[in-house]
Amino acid sequence: MCGIIGVTGVPDAARVAYLGLYSLQHRGQESGGMVAVDGEGVARSHRGMGLVSDIFNERVLSDLPGDVAIGHTRYSTAGTSVLANAQPMLARYREGPLALAHNGNLTNAVQLRSDLVAKGSLFQSSSDSEVLVHLIARSEAREPEDQLLDALERVEGAYSLLITVGRTLYAIVDPRGFRPLVLGRLGRGWVVASETCALDITGATPVRELEPGDFVRIHGEEVDQLPRLPARPPRRCVFELVYFSRPDSTVFHRSVDRVRRALGHELAREHPAPGADCVFSVPDSSNAMALGFSEESGTKLEHALIRNHYVGRTFIHPAQAGRMAKVKIKFNPVREVLQGKKVVVVDDSIVRGTTSRALVQLIRQAGAAEVHFRVASPPITGPCYYGIDTPTKGELIGSSHDVMQIREHLGVDTLGYLSLDGMLRAAGGDPADFCHACFSGDYPTEIPEDLERARNAAPLLAAIPS
Ligand code: AMP
Repeated sequence: MCGIIGVTGVPDAARVAYLGLYSLQHRGQESGGMVAVDGEGVARSHRGMGLVSDIFNERVLSDLPGDVAIGHTRYSTAGTSVLANAQPMLARYREGPLALAHNGNLTNAVQLRSDLVAKGSLFQSSSDSEVLVHLIARSEAREPEDQLLDALERVEGAYSLLITVGRTLYAIVDPRGFRPLVLGRLGRGWVVASETCALDITGATPVRELEPGDFVRIHGEEVDQLPRLPARPPRRCVFELVYFSRPDSTVFHRSVDRVRRALGHELAREHPAPGADCVFSVPDSSNAMALGFSEESGTKLEHALIRNHYVGRTFIHPAQAGRMAKVKIKFNPVREVLQGKKVVVVDDSIVRGTTSRALVQLIRQAGAAEVHFRVASPPITGPCYYGIDTPTKGELIGSSHDVMQIREHLGVDTLGYLSLDGMLRAAGGDPADFCHACFSGDYPTEIPEDLERARNAAPLLAAIPS
């Protein structure tokens, strides 16, 4: 998964984008980068592995002059975690430098890539996003915008894109609108970002969210709405609201915080835990859901798990590398809250079930008398092909175990998952507008067989010069 930001018409755009990337860090922690374009149309790039704070410093930012910049934080879902796959990509294009930052996954990238390779394209990375760069370069259309359209017509799947061609910034959302993108005003310039929390940190005022199929050109102070991409039924990713986006963001015209509270309300109605002494969250993604559960049920809200925010990429010796060790580094229980208590634990989702199982052991060891686990989304039964990092179907506990078996595996007294209807009710609006394929198996696009294999393709080059 990824976070993207674009800034235009603002002096020192790279510094603004850098701030924005900080608040998009939750969308990707493996690598990051930025391309800035100066007044002469010269593009400069810097990319690195790790967190935004590892990648950028004063010197790096002063080497990125200009009033146009795009930035990216990456967590690999297509292609491996190597520098070659870090974004934005920067290419020498016939119309000037072309930079591209992509959030989402292209479902037909493998087929397109092998066609392109057969025609002589030389790929620099194993990322699906590079396919777009080659398709744009090979288009026979005359105008850059038509070349972009040519390329977009050939790709399937999820893409929220920021592309600079020379000094012009394009912001594009695929026709189903899987991933969010929002436009904001900053002084006389513009900021486009994955989430509103990135506008907040830069001081930009949200203007509007891009709709499915939007194709927007921003040049200087001008924003032009170009003809929309061919319409498809919208399929907003419901998992953005459940887990991925930050609660202080507005995503798909909804406050993420309010949706998460509503998920907690629904959960308390569907799976009450009468007689429980308290309810608490697995921090931080389910804080608002536990609050909602408490509001609806009247069960006292507590903080029983304290999360260490400074864990980062802690090295764990292989001998200690059990799940329990990892969980203990990240969470510590508050014994005074748990001792002898019947507790409700609220989490947003269960993926493999390994973290949850270790957490339950931790909670029991701290003295809880009964553990009632509540999950604010249905069982995840299939992988996401549209940009969320979920493991293969075989690793998803919900794909092979029923609720009773998962209850036993976790070692809890009761287990309740929110229903699909309950989740969509909490999300609000028309339920048909959401993609919930990872829960329901209802994939809105065709999934080519090779996609699964391609996810773990070896990079062609260890690194390319940035
Ligand atoms: P587990 O018990 O191992 O399935 O882990 C469950 C935890 O994983 C929950 O607390 C979720 O917040 C979190 N989670 C959900 N989706 C993802 C994801 N795509 N990547 C990493 N963690 C996730």
